[in-house]
This record gives sequence, C-alpha cells and structure tokens, in this order.
Amino acid sequence: MSYSFEPFLDALGENWFDDDPLLQRLLAHHAGPGAPDEDGLAAWGAEVAGPLRELAETSARPENRPRLRRHDAYGRRVDRIELPESTRTALAEVHGHQGVGALRGDPYHFYSRAYLYAQNGEAGVVCATACTDGLVRALEALGDRPVHHEALERVRSSSPERVWHGAQFVTEIQGGSDVPANLARALPDGDAFRVEGRKWFCSNVNADYFLVTARASESGGEPGPLGLFLVPARLGASTAERNGHTIDRLKEKLGTRELATAEVTFHGARAWPVGPPDRGLPNLVAHVLVTSRFHCVYWAASALRRAERIAGAYAGFRRAFGTPIADYPLVKGALARIREGRRRALAATFGLLSLWEETRGAEPGEARRRTPELAGTGASQEARADFRVLLSLAKPVLTRRATVGLHEAMMILGGNGIEERFSPLPRLWRDAAIMETWEGPHNVLFTQALRDLERLEVEPGGFLERVAGKKGAGLVDELAGLLERSGEEDVTVPFARLAPRIVDAFADRILEEAGPG
Ligand SMILES: Cc1cc2nc3c(=O)[nH]c(=O)nc-3n(C[C@H](O)[C@H](O)[C@H](O)COP(=O)(O)OP(=O)(O)OC[C@H]3O[C@@H](n4cnc5c(N)ncnc54)[C@H](O)[C@@H]3O)c2cc1C
Repeated sequence: MSYSFEPFLDALGENWFDDDPLLQRLLAHHAGPGAPDEDGLAAWGAEVAGPLRELAETSARPENRPRLRRHDAYGRRVDRIELPESTRTALAEVHGHQGVGALRGDPYHFYSRAYLYAQNGEAGVVCATACTDGLVRALEALGDRPVHHEALERVRSSSPERVWHGAQFVTEIQGGSDVPANLARALPDGDAFRVEGRKWFCSNVNADYFLVTARASESGGEPGPLGLFLVPARLGASTAERNGHTIDRLKEKLGTRELATAEVTFHGARAWPVGPPDRGLPNLVAHVLVTSRFHCVYWAASALRRAERIAGAYAGFRRAFGTPIADYPLVKGALARIREGRRRALAATFGLLSLWEETRGAEPGEARRRTPELAGTGASQEARADFRVLLSLAKPVLTRRATVGLHEAMMILGGNGIEERFSPLPRLWRDAAIMETWEGPHNVLFTQALRDLERLEVEPGGFLERVAGKKGAGLVDELAGLLERSGEEDVTVPFARLAPRIVDAFADRILEEAGPG
C-alpha cells in the first residue's frame, strides 16, 4: 500500500504571518494605523516558515549539539563553544541581520518578529535574543561608563558578519530563586571590580557580554550588597583568552539542547557595575528578569501556535476507522483547547506589552533610558503594579499551558507525534519545560505576585476591573478574601489556583477589545 503524508505537509503553511489573522488583528489594534512594518512581517513570515525552520531542524540533530573545546592546538586554555553552522547562520540572520536581539522601532512589530521566529523553538537563538534584549535595556537605562557604551554600540550594530550578544548569570549552586543568597563576590580593583565565584546555570555562554550578580565586597571582608555587573567575555576584540573565567562543563539538558548552558567559575574577571553596586537586585528585576519573563510569555504563544498548526493539519489529514480524526469529538476538544490556549497566550502577550510600554512613559525612546525609580514619574504607578503582578502570573500559567498543549498535540499525532523527525513537537515540548523553570519557577512567581499585591497595596476590585474589565468582576470577592486572610495564614495554594482565571480574564478582555475574528 502506498501512503503519502504530502497533504499533511502541504497543510503546514508557508507563511506564518499571512496565516495568522489573530496576530494581524492584535497588531492592527495595538500598533495602530500606518504601522511601519506590515510588508516586512509578511516577508519574515515566509522566512521563519522556510529557511529558518530548516536551520532549526538541522541544529536540533544530536550530532549538532554545542561542544565545549577546552584547549587550542597549542595547549592554551580557550574554553571555546563550538556551534554548528546552522545555529551560527540562524543567529546571523535573526539577530545580526533582522535585529531581533535589541528592541527597536515599534515594540508590537518587534515582538511579533520574535513570536514568529520562536515557533521554531529555542534553536540556539531564542535565549540569545532574550538575554540580549535584557542586556540592552539594562545598559540603556543604567550604563554610564565607556565599557557600557561600547557594549551597547557593538550589540546594536551587530551584523550578519559579526553578531554581538549577551547572557545573564545569576543562579548559583545553592539556589536560583533565592537571589539574595548569592555568594559570588566582586572585589574593587581601580575603576572596576574583579568577580570571584561560581555560577551554576549559564545559558548562551558563547555570548560576548555577561550580566552577572555578585556581592560588592572588600577583599577578606564581609559579603557586601548584591550588585549587577557587566563582564565582557574577552577583554580585547581579537583575543581568544577569556576574561578571568573558565567554563567547567556543559549541562546535559532535557530541552533547549541547541543552546549552550554551562557551569562557570569566575576567578578575577574584570567587571563594571551596572547601576549602583548596592542596587543589583531591583535593577536585575526591573530590566533583566522582567524582559526574560516577557520573552517566556510570547514563547508560550509561539509554541502553542506551532502545536495548533501541526495538530490541526494532521487531524484534517489523518483518517481512522474510515473517519477523518478531526471529526471525533475527543480530537475536536483537544484541538479547541490548544487553539484557545494559543489565542489567550498571544492576547496576554499584547496586553502585557501594552502595559509595559505604559510603565515606560509616553515617549518610548526617552523612557528606555530612565532608571526604574524615575520610570514612575511620567508613568502610571497603577500600570506598573498591574504589569508586575500580571507578568508574574502569566509566565507560569502560560508556559505550563504550552507544555500541556504541546503534549496534547503530540497525542493527536499518535505514534508519529513521538517521532523526533516527523515534527518538532517533541523538541518544543522539551523546550517548554525549560521555559517553565527558567527565570522563576511557578511557585516563586505566584508567591511574588501575591507579595506584590500586598506590598503595593493593590485594591483587588480596581485591579481586576483595570486588567480584566467586566470579566474580572466575578473574581473580586475571591481575590479580596485571599488578601484579607493572607495576613493570618498562608494563601499561596488557593492563590495559585486563582492565577489562571485572572490571566484568562485579562486575555479575554484584550481579545474583546481587538474586535471580532
Ligand atoms: C536549561 C536552563 C537554563 C538556565 N539558564 C540560566 C541562565 O542563563 N542564567 C541563570 O542565572 N539561571 C539559569 N537557569 C537557572 C534557572 O533560572 C533556575 O533553575 C531557576 O531560577 C530555579 O532555581 P533553582 O533551580 O535553583 O531551584 P530552587 O530555587 O532551588 O527551587 C526549587 C523548588 O523550590 C520551589 N521554591 C523555591 N522558593 C519557593 C517559595 N518561596 N515558595 C514555594 N516554593 C518555592 C521552586 O518553585 C522549585 O520548585 C537555567 C535553568 C535551566 C533549567
């Protein structure tokens, strides 16, 4: 019997912008008329679905995993990360040519580009662009030294020939969530510092610039306050020698395998503070973690969109017991859940971006240079609190939903859903587990959101009305009750149960405002 999968393959789509009316609708609503980049996005939609998809698939092959080369041919320690040609080409195109690593132009179009590319999974690119976005935001807001300006200039002028990118190293062996417990130190040395200590999860370790948390301390003295430091990977543009650090080993990870994640020891790396050395934690959160968490949110929408596309195409093609499987109510139900999850994740992405922009003032260029303290002067304090709380809720809720949705999509493909080369679903599913963990696991973010609601004295009725409109009304009593009880007992468990309903009500409001479709 000859059996052909061609109709399934043909139904996968050749332009991921053109076949996404929801993205177009949200863009039209948020970016407004006369948006500068419609044609560019249509061309990008074809590129991500074609050549960049193929590069992602090549990078995902086991033989193309990143490698750590410790020594060069002359026995010198170089700790070089070797990436396959496919990943280097994709980075050169996505960041070097298209500039997806550093926010520029209209933010809705900018993140639409990132959302379209991320449908290919991590692919050795998404973490690099997310971390670079955070680096640029931190340096634009706080950079005041020549080394900061040089880093910014280089990253912003990245080209296909030379991609300059960033990474962020916070997590230590004793724990990642508890950042104040960091032990790495930064010892003063002339106009700079020298970082000593060990970082336990260092993704995109092949980057040119690292943002590193460390305690600014006197040599032999007590550990000082937590600072945020810029550590160039090398001190000269042409040198192979690393700046005072070694890459000890690469992690063997469940997902994001195309990305080099390492354990790193710093032993005297030259470092320059980004912002006051005693303001490391608030600056890390305001510029770096917020940015990565936002990248996780749109990544969830991207992953669900790919799941929806593949599972939808397969369900329309495959027959079982003489019936197209798409006609079975159980399959229909699974497809509808994936679709709904994707619609809400994308709507939440746009809604969060809109709030984020509001917190940064009316003039985006100007606001981008403000410190977090000053950012409040022109922006609504309410928007800042709403954004902070909603982002902490949306990141765990939506990344979890991406994992579940990808799993459902794999099941719709039956045995073919499990086969690595048949579709990218198994790879995306593994990546999704990383998105759930990276930049704050669920519990930590739910706890943070609850603490922020209390600390910022957010009034539950007003908050839910602002973020969810009429749809929030049904949740007011529940949230108010939890906040009332929280002084006397731990309410994190029921609060975590409420979180998806708040996120969904927020997303539904954004969908309603964007109009029918
Ligand atoms: C593939 C990958 C790449 C990574 N890349 C980087 C990177 O580039 N840079 C970087 O700095 N880090 C990176 N990380 C680390 C990541 O950010 C941490 O794993 C994460 O922050 C959690 O820290 P932890 O693993 O130490 O878990 P822990 O903080 O030890 O948490 C363990 C468990 O305890 C729970 N928990 C902790 N606190 C609370 C609380 N208050 N209430 C309830 N439960 C709680 C958590 O939810 C979790 O389930 C990466 C991780 C992975 C998996």
